[in-house]
Amino acid sequence: MNAVEVIRTKRDGGTLSDEQIDWVVDGYTRGLVADEQMAALAMAILLRGMAAGEIARWTAAMIASGERLDLSTVDRPTVDKHSTGGVGDKITLPLTPLVAACGAAVPQLSGRGLGHTGGTLDKLETIPGFRTRLSNAEFVAQLRTAGAAICAAGEGLAPADRKLYALRDVTGTVESIPLIASSIMSKKIAEGTASLVLDVKVGTGAFMTDLDRARELARTMVSLGTAHEVRTVALVTSMSTPLGYAVGNALEVEESVAVLAGGGPADVVELTLALAREMVELAGLSTDPAAVLRSGRAMDSWRALVRAQGGDPDAALPTAPEVEVVRATVGGYVSAVDALRVGVAAWRLGAGRARKEDPVSAGAGVLLHRRPGDRVGVGEVLLELRTDDASRIEAARAAADGAVVISDEPPEPEPLVRERIA
Ligand code: URA
Repeated sequence: MNAVEVIRTKRDGGTLSDEQIDWVVDGYTRGLVADEQMAALAMAILLRGMAAGEIARWTAAMIASGERLDLSTVDRPTVDKHSTGGVGDKITLPLTPLVAACGAAVPQLSGRGLGHTGGTLDKLETIPGFRTRLSNAEFVAQLRTAGAAICAAGEGLAPADRKLYALRDVTGTVESIPLIASSIMSKKIAEGTASLVLDVKVGTGAFMTDLDRARELARTMVSLGTAHEVRTVALVTSMSTPLGYAVGNALEVEESVAVLAGGGPADVVELTLALAREMVELAGLSTDPAAVLRSGRAMDSWRALVRAQGGDPDAALPTAPEVEVVRATVGGYVSAVDALRVGVAAWRLGAGRARKEDPVSAGAGVLLHRRPGDRVGVGEVLLELRTDDASRIEAARAAADGAVVISDEPPEPEPLVRERIA
């Protein structure tokens, strides 16, 4: 077997054989296939696509590149959630303890933010003391005791994906449905969860800006999960408007805690409950997540999770000292709040990173003062920009100005959950 032949096969629109896929994924993981060869192959895959059989084999090869966690000692049904990423998407924070409080175990291996979308680990690390690195043994032990753990994936899990994702990031090959689906699903299957609910985002602030592609990504991932005996359901949900009012690491933790306390923004509560219902059902439980949320047991579960990972649930969260506001220049109804523009503004304020080794600010971000459908008068505050570093404000303002669109008529309400794919 040689790499150039594998690249030529895909470049010319052919189908890769099982042997070619196993060989190239294994060879790349072990350093026998060079970065430039894998980059060429990833570009050929992006341009030519992959058949269902190739995607399944590619995913299996990525799982086989590392270890698969054994959660058989966890005596509750395991169920996880994965979101393809959005602006203000803090749903993992209230959802994980809520589903644990419903009786399932939630093994959440999460990531860091890159570009304009935030990452769960960056948000949790704003809680003083919170540890996002757990050993496999600690992870499994915490699932047994607290029913939930949220941490970084260990080095041993799908190492082929870790290497390939970093390469795709710098070679313009992220936006390929076969590569995204196999990347996400190899990690989730290797994590050992029995069931999985996918939140596939569609809209200006998401990877997938059109519904057809989001649907195709969702179907591809559901098929991969099912083929590996992971019960998998996907919700395709709107990401044209940021979720909630808070975009930024500590700001989103604060908003998540408000949801767990029984308040919080209506859209964050709605999506948390929609995903929780799917997770509870896949886990074979009959608990009503809305009742559990109202009872305060989800908050108890959050506090237990934070403590189990070394954090102090009562500690004050960091805030950013520099504040700038964006005001309405005309009056009317807010017809749109562009998720991408708000995400880019938060990123420029310091909430996100440009390269994966960059630090992020805990307190920086954007607070929405108005959401679609709200009335607004001239001069009223639309957005609040927060940062540690005043020199970031000008660039953030350039993204934020124009993010809030004001019209004479209120907009038609858009459903948050667009489709369910099982
Ligand atoms: N998230 C992943 O884990 N992989 C991708 O390819 C894209 C998003």
